[in-house]
Parts: sequence; structure tokens; C-alpha cells
Amino acid sequence: MNRLNDMLKRILTGELPITNNIKYHIAVYSLAAVHGIFMFFFLFTGIYFMAAYNFLSTAAYLLCKKLLKKEAYPLIYYITCGEIILNTIFTTLAIGWESGFSLFLLALVAAGFYISYTFPRHRIASPFICGIFASITYFVCYLLGRFLVPWHFIAGSWMCHALYVFNSFCTLAFITVFSILFMVDIRVSQNKLFEENKMLGRIAGIDALTRLYNRWSMENFLSDAFLAEHPFCLVMCDIDDFKRVNDTYGHECGDEVLKDIAEIIKSYVPKGSYVCRWGGEEFLILLNGYSREESAALADSIRCFVETHNSEFQGIQIPHTITMGVAHHHKNQTIESTIARADMKLYIGKRNGKNVVIS
Ligand code: GH3
Ligand code: MG
Ligand code: MG
Repeated sequence: MNRLNDMLKRILTGELPITNNIKYHIAVYSLAAVHGIFMFFFLFTGIYFMAAYNFLSTAAYLLCKKLLKKEAYPLIYYITCGEIILNTIFTTLAIGWESGFSLFLLALVAAGFYISYTFPRHRIASPFICGIFASITYFVCYLLGRFLVPWHFIAGSWMCHALYVFNSFCTLAFITVFSILFMVDIRVSQNKLFEENKMLGRIAGIDALTRLYNRWSMENFLSDAFLAEHPFCLVMCDIDDFKRVNDTYGHECGDEVLKDIAEIIKSYVPKGSYVCRWGGEEFLILLNGYSREESAALADSIRCFVETHNSEFQGIQIPHTITMGVAHHHKNQTIESTIARADMKLYIGKRNGKNVVIS
């Protein structure tokens, strides 16, 4: 019981999608069952023409099993439309309008538009055409019912009332089931869209090569830090003589070095602080809650590690160093000026022989 409850909940919240094949199975077999009931009803009430018709329609729906396997959904839909239209005409002629068989036409129009999304695009007109035919049949049958005497006159009898109640019940059940399926489909699409947007958001904020945040993400972190008005430091890092790595070992090797150094820096950045790939071979670290001295000490640990750990590319050891400029953010200054100061310190470090931290 709990498992059934759980499954129902998952279906209704769109977590567990219902396949098109299941939807068509529901439609085809419930129609077969309804016609089977009508067949026995008309057999016992002696209206043999209608019993024969319902026998044929039950058989037709059961034979749709092969079409369900082939996923020939438009054909199943056309068979259903044709059958419901014929059923309304025959029942009106045989037992009159009052028995309520025409109600199925209303369910057909509503469900037709919903189910048509399972068709190929070039069949987009199908529910419109079937809807027009169903509407014309509805009014033509109404006129037939008013002006023709049916072959079996049952108006006002218990049989007529029973049929009307049963037909109303079936029509309401069909509309309700298809409305639920429609709601579930929208939920499934909503969930999918939400997940995909989340993933796109993540991808958009990440640098494809190093997997670090990109400049766009960092600008958001910087503005958050700026608005929070807590102390923070920026560390601008640049790989020394990186052009030489590219020129000596090739661009592919340069990429590997970039990834390695990115990984090293990331491993040093504490929780609540961020590092991004700011430009080609430049990284910017935002150290939230760090003083200038603490930031310089952390930057120097990173510098030492980068210096002492070579990257490896195709069996070749690639030594590397980085230069870093540290700037403490002052409350009355803009983010841009703090970045410019970190950049300036980096520039000083480059001019002073590289592989240093200037704070
Ligand atoms: P300096 O010590 O003054 O920083 O010298 P440098 O050679 O590192 O600096 P320069 O600005 O002269 O060269 C940076 C090089 O970084 C040039 C560029 O081709 C390379 N580069 C930028 N982005 C990438 C990348 O994604 N992959 C690779 N392999 N190289 C890159
Ligand atoms: Mg460089
Ligand atoms: Mg550079």
C-alpha cells in the first residue's frame, strides 16, 4: 500500500514519467472494455444490431495491440475517431439521442488535442480535422434524434436512463484521466526544464578547460563580497613564462600545465572563498574574511607548492612558477580599484624577477 502511494505521488509530481505507449494502452483497452460491456448489454436487451456493432468495435480495439507495438499512434487515433463517430450515428439511429452516446464525442475532441502531441509534426492538423468531424456529427445526430423515430424506442425507459448515466460516467472518467495525464506531462516537462536550466547555469559559470569558475561567476562573487561589507583580499596570479611552455612543448602541454596549476590553487582555497580563471593564464582568488598578511601567507604557500611540483606531459617533467599580487579591499574603494591594485602588485612581482608574492 505504501509503495503504491509512493508510486502515485511520484507520477503526480512528474518524477515518474508515463510513456506514450502506456497512455495509448490505457485509451485502447478502456475503450475495448466499455464496448465489451455495451455488447453484452445490447445482447441481453435484444438490440442485436448494436450488439454486433459493439462486438466489432471491441475486436477492432483489441486488434490495435499490433499497432501499439509498432507505435502507430496516429492510426490508432484515426480508428478511435472513426469508431466513436460511427457509434454515435448508429446509436442515435438505433435507440435515439437521449441515451447519451454523443457525450463520447466531447471527450474525443478534448483528448484528441492532448494526445496529438505524440504525432509527427506534419500531422498537426489531425485533431482539428477530427474535432470538426466530431462536432458536425454531434449536431447532425442531435437533428436525427429530434426528427427521426429510432428503430428501438427507449426514450424515458429505465434502459435509457441507465445508458445515459453509464455514458456520462465513462465520458467524465475519460476526460478526467486525460486531464491528469496532461497535468503529469506538464509537471514532467517543468522538472526537466528546471534540471536542464540548473545544469546550463552551472556550465555557463565554469571554465571549460580548468573547471574553475569563470570571470562571469567571479564577478558575481565579487559583488556579493562588496555588498556584504566584510573584509576580503584579492590575489591575482599569473604563470611565469607560460609562452615558453607553449613554444617549447606545444599548446597541448600548456593546457595540461594550466589544468595542473588550477587544481593546485583550488586545493588551497578555503571554504567560502573562490578562485576563477580570470584570463588566459591568470587566476584571481577572492579570500573572504582574510587580512592582507593571511592572504600573503596563503599565496606564498601556493607559490612554493607550484614551484616544487612539476607537471608531467607525455613523460616529460615541466617545471613552473607563478607570480602573485595581493590587495586588501578597503571599504571606501571600488572592486575595480582593488583588482587594479592586485594587478599592479603582480606587475611589480614580474619586474622583480617573478616567482614571488607581492602584498
Ligand atoms: P610572464 O611571465 O610575463 O607572464 O610571461 P608569459 O609568457 O606567461 O606571458 P605572455 O602574456 O607573454 O603569454 C601568455 C601566454 O599564455 C600566451 C598564450 O598563448 C598563452 N595562453 C593563454 N591561454 C592559453 C590556453 O588556454 N592554453 C594554452 N596552452 N596557452 C594559453
Ligand atoms: Mg604569464
Ligand atoms: Mg598573463
